Amino acid sequence: MTMKWFAHKRIRHTLRYHPVPRDAWNRLMREAAIFRALSAVERAHLRELSALFLRRKEFSGVRGLTVSAEMALAVAAQACLLILQLGLDCYDDWVGVVIYPGAFRVVRDSTDTIGLVSRQESILSGESWSRGPVILSWDDVARDLAAPEPGFNVVVHEFAHKLDMRDGSANGMPPLHPDMARQQWTEAFSDAFNRLQRQQEQQLYSGIDAYGATAPEEFFAVASEYFFTAPHTLHQQFPAVYEQLVLFYRQDPASRQKMTS
Ligand SMILES: [Zn+2]
Repeated sequence: MTMKWFAHKRIRHTLRYHPVPRDAWNRLMREAAIFRALSAVERAHLRELSALFLRRKEFSGVRGLTVSAEMALAVAAQACLLILQLGLDCYDDWVGVVIYPGAFRVVRDSTDTIGLVSRQESILSGESWSRGPVILSWDDVARDLAAPEPGFNVVVHEFAHKLDMRDGSANGMPPLHPDMARQQWTEAFSDAFNRLQRQQEQQLYSGIDAYGATAPEEFFAVASEYFFTAPHTLHQQFPAVYEQLVLFYRQDPASRQKMTS
C-alpha cells in the first residue's frame, strides 16, 4: 500500500519536475516518421512514458560515445511506442541501455546439436540480454530516424526481444494477456514463420525481411518492426500475425495510418 502510494508520488514528481523538454519533443515528433500517425492524445501519453523511461533507465555510451539528451530521448520514445498501451512495468526487469557509435562486433562460443563448440563472430546493430541491458548502435538508430526504411527499426526490434524475454526466454512468444488465446498466437506465428522460411528457400521475396525466417524469436521481432513502421505490408502478408499483434500491443497502426492519409 505504502509502496504503491510512494510509486505514484514518484511518477507525479517526475512528470511535474522532469518532463521531456517541449522543443526537443516537438522536433522528434515532427522529424521521425514512426510517430507521424499518432494522435495528440497518444503523443501526450508517449511523452509521459518517455519522461519516466529516461528517469528509470541508465544510458551509457561506449567507445568514446557520449549519449546526449536528444539521443536518449529518441531511443526512449521509440522504446515506449511498443508499450504505449501496456505500461512501463513491462520494462521493469532491467535498467541499462548501452549505445555504441556504430555497428559492433561480438565473438561468442556456440554449441550445436551434437555438442560441437564453435566460435562465431558477428557484426550487430543491436542486441538484448535477458534481464540485462539493451545494446544499440547509434549509427543504426540515427539512420532509422533520418532515412527510415519500411519494416526496419533497430529500437523496435531490440525492445520487442525485451518483451519476449519477460517470461525468461526469447522464443517468439511474449507473455500473452489473459484475453488472448495461446493457440491462436501459435498457429498464426508458426504458419507465417514456416511460409517465410519456404519463400526464403525458394528465393522468393515476400515483402517481409528474410531475417525473420532465422528463428521464431527473430520472426516476432521483425514482425514487430513491420507492425510499427509498415503495418499495411504486415497486414497484407500475414493478416493473422497482424491481428495477434493488435491484441498484444493493444494498438492498430494500420487503421491509424489510414485515418491520417
Ligand atoms: Zn533479433
